Amino acid sequence: MSILEILQFPDPVLRARAADVEKIDDRIRKLAADMIETMHHAEGVGLAAPQVGESIRMVVIDTSAGENPDEILILINPVIVQSDGEASCEEGCLSVPELRERVTRAERVKVQGYDLAGRAVEVVGEELLAIAIQHELDHLEG
Ligand code: ZN
Repeated sequence: MSILEILQFPDPVLRARAADVEKIDDRIRKLAADMIETMHHAEGVGLAAPQVGESIRMVVIDTSAGENPDEILILINPVIVQSDGEASCEEGCLSVPELRERVTRAERVKVQGYDLAGRAVEVVGEELLAIAIQHELDHLEG
């Protein structure tokens, strides 16, 4: 595994809409492993592929900050299918260091996508996980 460079705004890759992952192969699996290592190294709770220069729809999230490997979430081609409530919290972004911004988001989201084995997954996130999912999915829209 290796630690990747995290792009900073206003890098054009961060502004582009990311493409669907067409095929989950070894390249995608290696990228996911590298993204997880990069996220933990940077002490972030999430990282989207465009942040490491890959304009594809994959995100990794770990709200346990590396404490619990079972909590690492890898989502490929994720789509939020349901959201409710409202929560406002201060968010930071690894691509915009030193800026923390108050953002209002849904309190609870249901997201569907695929895991690294190509299996359909559905995750319901609340609180920090809900915020992280919404934040990382925003990166896929540019
Ligand atoms: Zn971010």
